[in-house]
This record gives sequence, structure tokens and C-alpha cells, in this order.
Amino acid sequence: MNVILLGPPGAGKGTQAEHIHQQYGLAKLATGDMLRACATSGTAMGDRIKAIMAEGALVPDDVMVELIRGRVQAPDCLNGFILDGFPRTIPQAEALDVMLESEGKRLTAVIELQVNDTALVERIAGRFACAKCGAGYHDAFKRPNVQGVCDVCGADTFFRREDDKPETVAKRLEAYNRATAPLLPYYRERGLLRTIDGMAPIAQVTQAIEAILGDAAKQLTYRQNFL
Ligand code: ADP
Ligand code: ADP
Ligand code: ZN
Repeated sequence: MNVILLGPPGAGKGTQAEHIHQQYGLAKLATGDMLRACATSGTAMGDRIKAIMAEGALVPDDVMVELIRGRVQAPDCLNGFILDGFPRTIPQAEALDVMLESEGKRLTAVIELQVNDTALVERIAGRFACAKCGAGYHDAFKRPNVQGVCDVCGADTFFRREDDKPETVAKRLEAYNRATAPLLPYYRERGLLRTIDGMAPIAQVTQAIEAILGDAAKQLTYRQNFL
């Protein structure tokens, strides 16, 4: 199964991608995480990426496409992958189509998490993550079981993203509406778009995604066995 999670910043893509990764063994390709790793590499490219992200702007399509090309060909993607944060523009989506076609792969579903702007701002304002393993948390909606200790790895240091400050968030939402929202009709026309209510609590959103992936897995088995 090859799945795209689509939605504005703070919609819950990373939270749900991590769950799908664990539950279904799909490789998680989170471009924001990849870029953050690149931004601390100390290279000229890293510095350029860091500046773009700090602005709340989008990294150029050619850079993103090459980053993803290297990943979808990796062995851990043989079972399938979940894309979190890519594609974010129509040219990225078109490049992905070409890339998958040449690999003999296809998309199973594009899942849109619908969340209103007020909730997005609230989610981003309270977002923090484990400095060691990257596990995501929220001040109000997803606190660690033991305060100050990561549930996943036991580390006790956390960080907040530099680009999660309100001025930058407004720019990121604007970039989403301008450059990424056109992907919704793009995938709807291709019969791939599944929209779910991202306003629901985390566990309920997970259930809605599992229902879609369960259906997709059944259809896949049917096609493989009978068609
Ligand atoms: P994205 O990857 O789409 O930017 P995240 O998964 O990082 O979004 O979620 C943003 C913040 O909101 C995180 O702090 C996360 O813990 C929290 N969150 C995620 N999903 C929900 C939800 N359904 N309800 C409330 N808070 C959520
Ligand atoms: P969020 O979880 O809030 O949606 P991400 O962690 O996915 O944000 O992305 C953080 C930043 O990384 C974006 O604001 C953008 O600058 C850059 N970025 C991530 N993915 C892409 C992409 N596919 N195309 C261009 N820029 C990207
Ligand atoms: Zn951790």
C-alpha cells in the first residue's frame, strides 16, 4: 500500500503517519523531518533549506523531488510507504506520478485530514516533540504519560519547532491554501481522494484511517487474486 496523508500544517499528519508506520509496517517518508535533518547538516544546501523553512516558505520542487526519489527506491519501501508532507504542489504530484509509474508502483489512497484554522493554530501552538526520538506531543491533547519523560524512549528533553511561532504559521497556512490545496481536486479527479474529519480526537481519526486502509487492503487482495 502506498498512501499520502494530506492536510494543512498541524492537521495531525505526523501523528497519524507514525501510527500507520507502526501498525502496517509501511515506510514513513516525512519530508519535514528529512529537511530538518538536512538543515542541521552544516552544508550550504542545509543552510539554504533552514532559511526557507524559517520563513514558512516551500523548498523548491526540484530539491523535494530528488529527496523523495532517493527514498521511494529504498528497500524499506518494498512493502509500501506513507507520505507525510509530500507532495505539496502540483509539480511535485506530477513528478511523483512519473516516478511511481517507472517503478511499477501506484498510489492506494490519498487521505485528507480536514481541520479548521482555529484548531490548527491551537494544535501548532501546543506542539512539542522528544529531542531524542522525535515522538510528537501536545500541551493539552497529547501529554506524555509521565510529565517530562518521553513515552517512547524515556528521554527527558523536548523541543518546539522554530517555525511553529504564530507569524510563521500564518505564512505556512497561506502556502498550503495557495500551493497545496489544488492537490485535492487533482487526486479527486483520479479517484484517490478520501476525506476524513480531522477535528475528531486522535484515536478516532486513527480509526477512520484504518477503515480506509482496511478497505484498500481488501480491494488490493481481490485484484491480486481475481483480476
Ligand atoms: P502535522 O504533521 O499535520 O503538522 P501533527 O501530527 O504534528 O500535525 O499534530 C499537530 C499537533 O496537534 C501535535 O501537537 C499533536 O499532538 C496534536 N494533534 C494531532 N492530532 C490531533 C487530534 N486529532 N486532536 C488534537 N490534537 C491533535
Ligand atoms: P507540518 O507538519 O506543519 O505540515 P512539515 O514538517 O511537513 O510541516 O514541513 C515543515 C516545512 O518543511 C514546511 O513549512 C516547508 O518549508 C518544508 N517542506 C516540507 N515538505 C515540503 C515539500 N514537499 N515541499 C516544499 N517544502 C516542504
Ligand atoms: Zn523519545
